[in-house]
Amino acid sequence: MDQRHEWFKDGARAFRSVQSRYGRAHLLPPEIDLYPCPLCLRDLYVIGAIEAGELTREHVPPHSLGGRWLALTCRSCNNKAGTFFDAEAEKQERMRSFL
Ligand SMILES: [Zn+2]
Repeated sequence: MDQRHEWFKDGARAFRSVQSRYGRAHLLPPEIDLYPCPLCLRDLYVIGAIEAGELTREHVPPHSLGGRWLALTCRSCNNKAGTFFDAEAEKQERMRSFL
């Protein structure tokens, strides 16, 4: 089991725990782990989503700023983070270094 699978298991366990706390555990299939993207909470993923490339590792802070893989997010959020948040963080870091 690699790091992505460990993150998936941890996230699925936390998701089930939160659903249980709010009395919604009965809505989840008992034998299948489901993982929500922690950024958008839009969809639930099964572990096969990792190999399918639907869940990807996200660098925090951006890789270009020395970040490391820290979260498992959906591909859409990872792409948006690179386009918007990471690009903005890199721009600010360049300005800080320049000054
Ligand atoms: Zn997402």
